[in-house]
Amino acid sequence: MKIINRKLIYIALCWLIPSYIFAIEKAPRPNILLVVTDDHGYSDVGFSQGASPDIKTPSLDSLAQDGITFDSAYVAHPFCGPSRAALMTGRYPHKIGSQFNLPVNGSTVGIPTEQVFISKALKQGGYFTGAIGKWHLGEEAQYHPNARGFDEFYGFLGGGHKYFPEEFDEQYKRAKSLGVKRFNDYITPLQHNGKDVRETEYVTDALSREAVNFINKAANNEEQPFFLYLAYNAPHVPLEAKAEDLAKFSHIKDKDRRTYAAMVYAVDRGIKSIVDSLKATEQYDNTMIVFLSDNGGNRKWGAVNDPLKEGKGSAHEGGHRVPMMVHWPDEISDGTRYSHPVSALDFYPTFLALAGIDLPIESHLDGKNIWPSVTAGESARQGESLFVLRHRRAAHDVSVRRDQWKAVRTKKTGKWQLFDVESDISETKDLAKKHPYILQDMVNDVSHWSWSNVPPKWFHIHQEGDEWRQDDMPRFGETFRIDK
Ligand code: CA
Repeated sequence: MKIINRKLIYIALCWLIPSYIFAIEKAPRPNILLVVTDDHGYSDVGFSQGASPDIKTPSLDSLAQDGITFDSAYVAHPFCGPSRAALMTGRYPHKIGSQFNLPVNGSTVGIPTEQVFISKALKQGGYFTGAIGKWHLGEEAQYHPNARGFDEFYGFLGGGHKYFPEEFDEQYKRAKSLGVKRFNDYITPLQHNGKDVRETEYVTDALSREAVNFINKAANNEEQPFFLYLAYNAPHVPLEAKAEDLAKFSHIKDKDRRTYAAMVYAVDRGIKSIVDSLKATEQYDNTMIVFLSDNGGNRKWGAVNDPLKEGKGSAHEGGHRVPMMVHWPDEISDGTRYSHPVSALDFYPTFLALAGIDLPIESHLDGKNIWPSVTAGESARQGESLFVLRHRRAAHDVSVRRDQWKAVRTKKTGKWQLFDVESDISETKDLAKKHPYILQDMVNDVSHWSWSNVPPKWFHIHQEGDEWRQDDMPRFGETFRIDK
């Protein structure tokens, strides 16, 4: 009897499987447009909870209105290089030795080549891939975007750039005439697939223009969906804005804030041109647009992260909770907000799942496919922790987010604190004494996580490396001890 049943099941499966495979082959795979801004404050987009009243981002707000706004989106590190390394590899930077920014001005090191970037996984899975803007993940040939899975690259390889070509061209020429070989990253010519180009537009506009060009090119390529990583350097310093954008913010008295607001607005103008090109090429509905900042806003240079505590570089919420939204007409019909914690580490497994691509066999990803939970409105990591660890001299700034809880220890306070960031988003009421067991459990979590961290493969400046050795770092025993 059992054998007959098995035979019947087998016959039924033979009928079902081909039609199932056919259905998978026919399902259109989404285009993915990942837009990253640089040092963009949590409240410096109109769609953020507690949005700054003086910021204007109508195009982003319009997308958010029909998409999903993420109120508790985290990046893996509170400053640029390590955060971007995590975006591309799906790994905590501490697991791959990338927990410091790359050495300044033309470094010879880069994110280890054994790490398969998300671009490479998507390209191998049949996607047409492009990176536009800031790279900051290595400059030598083996670390170049074209070597890491991007068919197209337009932008600059360093950690930032000046915005007006008439200024940076002049400075570059002068340095060259003086015999300089290692140029300041911020003045080198932009490049297209490894070849220097003579850019003439304000850099934010140039990057938007190139994104539109890429989208138009992708439309002519019906065989392949696209993945575009659009990494604006705005509103990262230097604060430089166009007169026409500044004119819209003449009511802002503080000069830095006014320039910063104009730089954010220039990004938003670019988003409008990108949305228009997606619509004109009939790719709008099937394109998942993800927007976020690479870390918290820099409060010294015009950014506002209210209601979050502190900013760029901090283990408090202002350092690594970032503005984020997803827009995708084919999958999201009504605008909604999602308040459970998600991480930029989740993009890698989520994008691959949505693209129907198996994870590379050698991958050991730290995030997870969040899409089923997001669409169900449920937490994707109930009872699971997200970590931030910023090395500082002879100590670390460290935090753990788990459900509503945030455990944090900074060099400044020198002690572990516990906050309920669902009811106390600004981290004002320390509940460490009230909930010692929860705190201990979360500290145990991050301590356990730290065991598989690897030493930094580089330091941003020599002094950091000297201090690391002098202070016998990482000294995790002291960091994870709770003083009673
Ligand atoms: Ca940044």
